[in-house]
Amino acid sequence: MRVAVTGGGGFLGSHLCEALLRRGDEVVCLDDFSTGDPANISPFLGMPGFELVRGDVSRSVEVRGTVDAVAHLASPASPPDYLRRPLETLAVGSRGTENALRLAARHEARFVLASTSEVYGDPEVHPQDETYWGHVNPVGPRSVYDEAKRFAEALTEAYRTNRGTNTGIVRIFNTYGPRMRPHDGRVVSSFVVQALAGEPLTVYGDGKQTRSFCYVDDLVRGILAMLDNDEPGPVNLGNPVELTVMQLARMVLDLTGSQAEIQHHPLPVDDPTRRRPDITRAARRLGWTPDVGIEEGLRRTVEWFASRPADIAAALSA
Ligand code: NAD
Ligand code: UDP
Repeated sequence: MRVAVTGGGGFLGSHLCEALLRRGDEVVCLDDFSTGDPANISPFLGMPGFELVRGDVSRSVEVRGTVDAVAHLASPASPPDYLRRPLETLAVGSRGTENALRLAARHEARFVLASTSEVYGDPEVHPQDETYWGHVNPVGPRSVYDEAKRFAEALTEAYRTNRGTNTGIVRIFNTYGPRMRPHDGRVVSSFVVQALAGEPLTVYGDGKQTRSFCYVDDLVRGILAMLDNDEPGPVNLGNPVELTVMQLARMVLDLTGSQAEIQHHPLPVDDPTRRRPDITRAARRLGWTPDVGIEEGLRRTVEWFASRPADIAAALSA
């Protein structure tokens, strides 16, 4: 296959590019590096099956030659990133998604949208399965991300029903692992960087809010399964093991052997109180379940960050 990956220079996108290349597919990576890092894909530059197209996919998505599949991952994903870039986030969720869908429609290619558990907002149903419509504040600060993704889902569905495009939607739950930016502000990268540096761990609120964390290799296997399938979705992809933020902080302290203290900070507005995926549909329709437990995944993540002390120092001084 020749696969266009928008956002291929980011955390998840670069792992997806790598997995596609490893199994012999060709990859066209489209990225403006607004929240990605060129270092993520620099090892692939010069490989015969890899091509990089630098640019904003909200403006255009142009690819030379044909493509068999489009994976649309371009979008800021970390709350500090999308709160800093609200209009760009709305643009890439709407115009960017339409440009990516047009590319897929033009080539009669499979299209997979990277949607998010944030479409469920602060959920009143627990755990969340795909039939739940969500509880989103349409004018709260997070809405630029949540509503952009909800619109992207609607647009994807409309291309499927009106244009006959072979689309699929995955709703990704919190994912972590190597290549997260040390200063991206997400909870796993923040805690690991803080613990390794012996700085206080910044727990927002009382830390009783929950998330369910999926290791990146598992998640990428799920996206590949969706690319290889005609399943329309939406399909939740995530690891259903649920932790409070305090439990995560303690686990990171244990794994790093850090003596850092825990410091409480105000809870961000509209921060979801709990989140856990029901992954029955992914198991049934894609044959997908995650393999990597939180301790093992965190251990690999800690190891990766620990091998980059200069990045950690730069992140802490930023
Ligand atoms: P990331 O910020 O590391 O990667 C996003 C990539 O998209 C970056 O390389 C960025 O430069 C690129 N990008 C953003 N806007 C662009 C634009 N207009 N034009 C071209 N490129 C652009 O984030 P990530 O964690 O890798 O997330 C990837 C996708 O997965 C996103 O769509 C995100 O919403 C979704 N997702 C991720 C998670 C997670 O936990 N990581 C959870 C739910 C959904
Ligand atoms: N969080 C925290 N400290 C941090 C960063 C995040 O306590 O330094 C909390 C945040 O309030 C949320 C959870 O961790 O309840 C997950 O946050 P993240 O930004 O990683 O993902 P999202 O909110 O998008 O699920």
